[in-house]
Amino acid sequence: MTNRSTILVVGAGPAGLTAATELARTHQVVLFDRESAAGGIPRHSAHTGYGIRDLHRVMTGPNYARRLVERAREAGVDIRTESTVTGWAGDHSLVVTSPHGRVQWDADAVILATGARERPRSARLIAGDRPAGVLTTGQLQNMVHLHHRTPGKRAVVVGSELVSWSAVLTLREAGCDTVLMTTERSRPESYALFHHPARVLLSTPVSTATRVVRVIGRDALEAVEVEDVRAGSRRIVECDVLVLTADWIPDYELTALAGLDRDRGTRGPRVDMSLRTSRAGVFAVGNLIHPVDTADVCALDGRQVAGAVRSYLRDLGMGEHSSAAEGSASDSSAAEGSLPDSSLPDGAVIQAVAPLRWIAPSLIRAGDHAPARRRLLLWSDEFRLSPRLVATQDGREVGRLTIPWPAVPGRVLRAPWALLERANPAAGEVRVTLG
Ligand SMILES: Cc1cc2nc3c(=O)[nH]c(=O)nc-3n(C[C@H](O)[C@H](O)[C@H](O)COP(=O)(O)OP(=O)(O)OC[C@H]3O[C@@H](n4cnc5c(N)ncnc54)[C@H](O)[C@@H]3O)c2cc1C
Repeated sequence: MTNRSTILVVGAGPAGLTAATELARTHQVVLFDRESAAGGIPRHSAHTGYGIRDLHRVMTGPNYARRLVERAREAGVDIRTESTVTGWAGDHSLVVTSPHGRVQWDADAVILATGARERPRSARLIAGDRPAGVLTTGQLQNMVHLHHRTPGKRAVVVGSELVSWSAVLTLREAGCDTVLMTTERSRPESYALFHHPARVLLSTPVSTATRVVRVIGRDALEAVEVEDVRAGSRRIVECDVLVLTADWIPDYELTALAGLDRDRGTRGPRVDMSLRTSRAGVFAVGNLIHPVDTADVCALDGRQVAGAVRSYLRDLGMGEHSSAAEGSASDSSAAEGSLPDSSLPDGAVIQAVAPLRWIAPSLIRAGDHAPARRRLLLWSDEFRLSPRLVATQDGREVGRLTIPWPAVPGRVLRAPWALLERANPAAGEVRVTLG
């Protein structure tokens, strides 16, 4: 049996929920999430700091997630949890696996909002034993906030970004002391304004230019070996929990399965300023395209994409609240047959040059308007107090800006759209450098 909706959204985090809510006012929208409840990461991130730019208030993660889910339901979004999208059955058809079985869903447009995850230990190449007690922040917060379990008594946290401090807070709430935070960088990645008070209030030592190189303990974690990356000296730190924070990678499996163009830097789908991927009718939003920014910025991607999806559906001749038939076998070939010429203009790829790791969006197509919030998002692997960004195309400078806030490794640098406003979508690759 095949089901049908006008729009399918994959991922019920802030980005997917917001896109679905905006679009449900005019079209039928079905939203899938593999978890047992919608809300994405904020659902198990119990501290405050959510909702500032999109809902214009400061909320805890769970309250923010609840509010976004309520709004989606009120708007008429059909939210389906425990529903993992496991593949594609056509350009706009998804295979969805749930406890009720495997079902094909056809649509006219698909929005990917699958978020990003922290790299696990295996991907970070940390040697040693394989005991229990080694977690990512996501796993820690799941354990503490959703399953109310205690992780241990003494933790070492790898990373010193905002998310790392979020892990420290969670550990403290669960009665576990953080005995050390390590970062390979020569300075902590989080805002000084936040970092210094946090260090004192949470009495957490931060060791810069160090890394965890070995895990010790057969069944349960007993200690880790920490190396000074400059001197090469090593020491043993006793702990029963190791939390691996940050080092993000987008959940790009569906992007790869679809064969969509991917950005070399983010590894997620390459999108233009309207958040269109390389396949007409398939869009991408949130941390899948910029791993990672805050939840409100992801939610605002959801608003931005709604306009592009509506205009795509208008071009298809799709009226509002057209087509919807769950359980009825749909003629998917007829639906696919109604598609007009689906080719998208090529556009100019935007390439971030090291020490910039990525820029998002990373494509300008003819007719593109400014990106969400008129901001480009970049990731720098080096610190700059007053970053100077220069954009060149075909050997000519097309934009130059000095940003009045620092570029800090481990956190998104937001730059005004003015940097690329003069780039020509038909004149080849644009290179963005950091000075
Ligand atoms: C510990 C921590 C603390 C944070 N603190 C803050 C903060 O204070 N303020 C703030 O603004 N931001 C904070 N953030 C960042 C914020 O949580 C993220 O930016 C935001 O959740 C990203 O939204 P998203 O919709 O892109 O992805 P996510 O929230 O990650 O949602 C993606 C969803 O997609 C689902 N999914 C993935 N693949 C599939 C599939 N194949 N089928 C079905 N479903 C799928 C997942 O289950 C998930 O629910 C924090 C993040 C972390 C990890």
